Amino acid sequence: MLIVLKPDVTQNQKNHILNILREGGAIFKEIADAGQSIIGATGPAGHDPAYFENLKGVDRVVPITTAFKLVSRQMHRQDTHVNIGDVVLGSERISIIAGPCAVESRSQTMAIAKEVRKYGAVLFRGGAFKPRTSPYSFQGLGEEGLKILAEVRETYGLRVVTEITTPAQADLVMKYVDVVQVGARNMQNFDLLKCVGRLGRPVLLKRGLAATIEEWLMSAEYILSEGNENVILCERGIRTFEPYTRNTLDLSAIPVIKKLTHLPVIIDPSHATGIREKVSPMARAAIAAGADGLMIEVHNDPDRALSDGAQSLYPKQFGQLMRDIYVIAPVVNKQLDFGYLDKARAVSHLEAEDDGKGQKAAFLGEIGSYSHKACTQYFGSQVTPMPVNSFKALFEAVKEGKTHFGIIPLENSLAGSVHENYDLLLEYDLRIVGEIMLRIKHNLIGHPETEINSIKRVFSHPQVFQQCRQFLEQHPEWELVSVTDTACAVKQIKEKGDSSDVAIAGIEAAETFGMAVLEEGIETNPRNYTRFVIISPYSLTNGDKRKSSLIFSTGNQPGALFETLKVFADNHVNLVKLESRPIHGKPWEYMFYVDLEGDVESEAFRPVLDELHKKIDYFKILGAY
Ligand code: PEP
Ligand code: MN
Repeated sequence: MLIVLKPDVTQNQKNHILNILREGGAIFKEIADAGQSIIGATGPAGHDPAYFENLKGVDRVVPITTAFKLVSRQMHRQDTHVNIGDVVLGSERISIIAGPCAVESRSQTMAIAKEVRKYGAVLFRGGAFKPRTSPYSFQGLGEEGLKILAEVRETYGLRVVTEITTPAQADLVMKYVDVVQVGARNMQNFDLLKCVGRLGRPVLLKRGLAATIEEWLMSAEYILSEGNENVILCERGIRTFEPYTRNTLDLSAIPVIKKLTHLPVIIDPSHATGIREKVSPMARAAIAAGADGLMIEVHNDPDRALSDGAQSLYPKQFGQLMRDIYVIAPVVNKQLDFGYLDKARAVSHLEAEDDGKGQKAAFLGEIGSYSHKACTQYFGSQVTPMPVNSFKALFEAVKEGKTHFGIIPLENSLAGSVHENYDLLLEYDLRIVGEIMLRIKHNLIGHPETEINSIKRVFSHPQVFQQCRQFLEQHPEWELVSVTDTACAVKQIKEKGDSSDVAIAGIEAAETFGMAVLEEGIETNPRNYTRFVIISPYSLTNGDKRKSSLIFSTGNQPGALFETLKVFADNHVNLVKLESRPIHGKPWEYMFYVDLEGDVESEAFRPVLDELHKKIDYFKILGAY
């Protein structure tokens, strides 16, 4: 049951309720939900709900109607984030777990780990105790396999996931691995579930071969009821009458799970399909359907794999899949971050040397704006977003060390560059250390009681009005009011309290200010993306940098620009952006802004730079990232 407390409940009244629950032997926790104080309780409470309803400080008691309680969304409205080292599973950053079905040897495992790490996996999988259908099949290397997994973590910084098949393995598994997997065949091994619940380490719980979603969630309930909330659900296909695939992948489980529980859900398309060529299509679909991550089997020599070779991707295929997911993720409001681990490590490292104030990233506008979202999607919860009120103030804050990072929009796929920021990049000696692309989906946001035909004024950023022109043209009677950012528009209409005022902004702004979405996706072109970059004096990766940004100007003679661009062409450097900007104080003279694929600061690039320097007047590297 949920015991909803009155807004003026005293601490004494609350303690009294908690004591009664404790004495009754209930499992309970306090939940803060949209400003309301709630106690969620399950198990024996010693009294019936009516008794609690009559206690002082209690507003009402709401029964939890599902068989599962602790895993229920009613008990915990926000998504649960499972922390595994620097990886946060269940956030807006997609987590990819990859590796072989089984740890077969040190060399096989290390080789695969190197590949999947290169392509952006953040966790490594590999079975050391294999539950095989046949007793004559390879059963896993046991402790030797666990030791190899521990070496993967040491060498590549990938946290490791492995299956536990009996409580007797608990001590061993705890010694070596970061996430314990309960396999499909063991989903209803209740002693094992209780055991992993007590271990306290994150648990990856696969759906049983013939389990309903409710049975699966009841198994998760076992783990939570032992005090372990760090459960990741993994759909891996269920047994049906269909023989063309090994199992039938139930992708509809994703939205069902998302609605019923707060736990993260990932998809294992490898065991679901059993066939290599079916894995990537299902993986892409899973991300599009809202999965928080994937578990993919990858093998460097699948023909000789000791288990599940036929469903294992070659490392290169895995790399291709990762590129596709990178593209799909922003459509569903998520990110695949190739630099996830490097970046998280760099931020943790800064934290260690920090003055105790914590890491911050400045962004323009209010909480709930697109810039704020870019910030949380890029850094997760590792840094604290810091609102500022102008781009200039943002650059100043980073320069003066008031914040370690700043996040700025640089270009929109429909509206083009944000020139003010290009000019500030030229003026300040700060570097671009990362980038992130957001899909921009605009919504008409108003008071819950607002009717479309009673609207008089619309608040938003002028560029947003442009991007929603087709929608706004249907209502020429509406007055458009320009403000500095979208979240600020929502805040203003909320504060004014006039139901004929509406705003255009992202869904996060509506959530932040408790306003209603009246019309979703009103931008004219749904392929509307904004590219944000992160500026900082601190580097976020020592690894490969895929992209670089620079500024140059050439002399004013025929062929000067051609000569410069020829250097890139001759050296097979792919330019992904070229734009000119007027040089302030020099009418009709221009700087060129270039983005290219590659690391301009690498040794390999040095000859290109040397050649470039001969052709240009001015040159500045904005960053390699
Ligand atoms: C595995 O992940 O290697 C495995 C055996 O999976 P499942 O339990 O889903 O069959
Ligand atoms: Mn397998």
